[in-house]
Amino acid sequence: MGEFDANKSVVRIFMQNTVTADETVSVLIHEGRHVTRHLRGRRMSSFSEELRARSLEFVFRYRRRPTFNERQILRQEVREFYPELEEDE
Ligand SMILES: [Zn+2]
Repeated sequence: MGEFDANKSVVRIFMQNTVTADETVSVLIHEGRHVTRHLRGRRMSSFSEELRARSLEFVFRYRRRPTFNERQILRQEVREFYPELEEDE
């Protein structure tokens, strides 16, 4: 639903795929995680990075941290959405 182009320092949100304002903000929070990592000179593309970005989305949506079982679901979603990433945690 969004992407961070580090070369151009641009976050794109594909609003045709976000139905509500909360979904749009959620995507911005996810991509913001990648921006922060990039600005700190850290690796942006990894399984653990996507998992953390998804966890931040969860915290925004539900106003709490995910439970153990919910983290397992997030982990499975990252596996499905980013099959190219090796699990590194
Ligand atoms: Zn991401």
